[in-house]
Amino acid sequence: MKPVIAVSGLRKTYGSGETAVHALRGVDLQVWPGEYVAIMGASGSGKSTLLNMLGCLDTPTSGRYLLDGFSVADLNERQLALLRNRKIGFIFQSFNLVPRTSALSNVELPMVYSGLKRGERRRRALAALEMVGLTDRAKHLPNELSGGQQQRVAVARALVGGPAMLLADEPTGNLDHASTVDVLGVFDRLNALGRTVVVITHEDEVARHAHRVVRVSDGQIVSDEVRAGVVA
Ligand code: ADP
Ligand code: MG
Repeated sequence: MKPVIAVSGLRKTYGSGETAVHALRGVDLQVWPGEYVAIMGASGSGKSTLLNMLGCLDTPTSGRYLLDGFSVADLNERQLALLRNRKIGFIFQSFNLVPRTSALSNVELPMVYSGLKRGERRRRALAALEMVGLTDRAKHLPNELSGGQQQRVAVARALVGGPAMLLADEPTGNLDHASTVDVLGVFDRLNALGRTVVVITHEDEVARHAHRVVRVSDGQIVSDEVRAGVVA
């Protein structure tokens, strides 16, 4: 088995000289298929910077990153975009759904340029909506859905391309308690089905669902524990 994420000596410095900010100061991390990992840390600790690196949204100053076995540093922009689209399902705090477009069409969107036929795209989108428990809301517009339901549509959209991992950035940051429970339940279910989930959060409630908690402080990993007595 090869790791989904294999990072070593990852550094990111913003700016240079006296005003340089060392946001990541040598991070080593491996995530294996089927893991459910929460990355935690205080504001300013480097969580978003790490997410940007893991998500291939920005490049590190130095260090090595193998995403599902592919060396990210060796790829050009176009190859990187392809790798990102194939390997990572992103889930953001602010759902990022297209307004005035049905839940079903939102989930179909990532497949528009995939070369798949329309019927096949629809079939896969419906299957993804079923996995998040929203079959009966497929025709609804985002503004006709609760926050938790909108985030579940976003999870279905992230899933639909069969990525190697789901990468979520504060996925419950905009949700009330009931919707948080709802979305965390979906992550639990997907992980139980074998999906790799990496979630960046500062909320203990979210981290309680993960099987492993990695804590970041001042640009470094300060603890990495496999949890006993997981909620799910
Ligand atoms: P977190 O997500 O844990 O709050 P960040 O990764 O956003 O932390 O930030 C880590 C450090 O890097 C902070 O000191 C922040 O001010 C700094 N930082 C983040 N992004 C930039 C940027 N684009 N330019 C300069 N400094 C940045
Ligand atoms: Mg952040």
